[in-house]
Amino acid sequence: MSGTTLDDYTDLYAQRVHGMKASEIRALFSVANRPEVVSLAGGSPFTAALPLDAIGDMMAELVAREGAPALNYTGGQGELVLREQICAVMAEEGIDASGGASPDDVVVTTGSQQALDLVSRVFLDPGDVVLAEAPSYVGALGVFQAAQADVVHVPMDDDGLVPAALEQAIADVAASGRRAKFLYTVPAFHNPAGVTLAEQRREQILEICQRHRLLVLEDNPYGLLGFEQDPPAPLRARARDGVLYLGTFSKTFAAGVRLGWILAPHAVREKLVMASEAAILCPATFNQRVVARYFATMPWREQLKVFQELYRERRDATLSTLDEAMPAGVSWTRPAGGFYIWVTLPESLDSKAMMPRAINARVAYVPGTGFYADGSGARHMRLSYCFPPPDRLREGVRRLGRVIEEELTL
Ligand code: PMP
Repeated sequence: MSGTTLDDYTDLYAQRVHGMKASEIRALFSVANRPEVVSLAGGSPFTAALPLDAIGDMMAELVAREGAPALNYTGGQGELVLREQICAVMAEEGIDASGGASPDDVVVTTGSQQALDLVSRVFLDPGDVVLAEAPSYVGALGVFQAAQADVVHVPMDDDGLVPAALEQAIADVAASGRRAKFLYTVPAFHNPAGVTLAEQRREQILEICQRHRLLVLEDNPYGLLGFEQDPPAPLRARARDGVLYLGTFSKTFAAGVRLGWILAPHAVREKLVMASEAAILCPATFNQRVVARYFATMPWREQLKVFQELYRERRDATLSTLDEAMPAGVSWTRPAGGFYIWVTLPESLDSKAMMPRAINARVAYVPGTGFYADGSGARHMRLSYCFPPPDRLREGVRRLGRVIEEELTL
């Protein structure tokens, strides 16, 4: 069939396809991954720090002991052994049985990315409004846009989402005759902003959402990656109703197993399972058992400390070099955990326009525009320190400093 093309059929696309845009991060991957380029762009966890031999042995043992069923279909909600381990992990962050968290209310997903998709399928009609931080995780924006929802951004500061701004956004949406269905928030070590929602704001945010019957979609991939101390307890640890909680094994274990979860009230949980069965039948059985055994039998808390220490060192290398290498007028956040630093450039600069010159100077970052539904944010960029070793990070930040300096003289 060589020489055929599907271009003639684009008029057959569903409406929702027209809102789909290529992710700026994906587009950057091929150039950013060239060996001579220091990539401060991707957010891949440093899986080389895992005990790979021990994990290999554990997998072989799993096949020997449970081979046939471990390699077959299982239930759409996810394996009970894994849902029990998920509850043990959530308890570590203060979400436990006393607050109503039980394996029965957990839905296992193919990463928290699928969780975002399932929640959108269950709650969003075209034209619904989602409130989300400004900026927001690019992958969540993609899901909301595919669901044809309108994202209304709510400002943040160094203490995370601003409660008064949330009140205002809810009022503005209501005044336009529409209704926001949920608030999407990443309260700990935000992607991309690197900030954490302050303790005193957490109750305020919950109170505002409850008063307006607004669901909270709490996305917490980085909560266990605090460098000096743990972040304040998640929103779900403070309220059992009205919060849908998303977790993932991508950062505490391995992103490649593609496993995450949703903790949801019973009725919602049933709908989520039906939506997931329609999409994927069941999450990967073998991977679920691998993860369940890893958390049941291997020293995962010690491994978490290894990750915390490794990322802390990389953050420190990045921040200290930013202090040395950035021209006046550039500012950035100072994350206390997680993977990301959010940089603000002087007013006259455009991080997207600057990108080809940065690649020429052999450094890559993600322009801020991908993190806003309306494509604003050109003064910003996201830097990730999770993957390159400290000396590469220092070199990358120095290169970036020179690019910005040159840009200021153009
Ligand atoms: N939410 C946030 C805030 C993220 O940073 C990521 C990963 N970059 C995800 C969700 C998706 O993670 P995964 O599907 O690997 O669980």
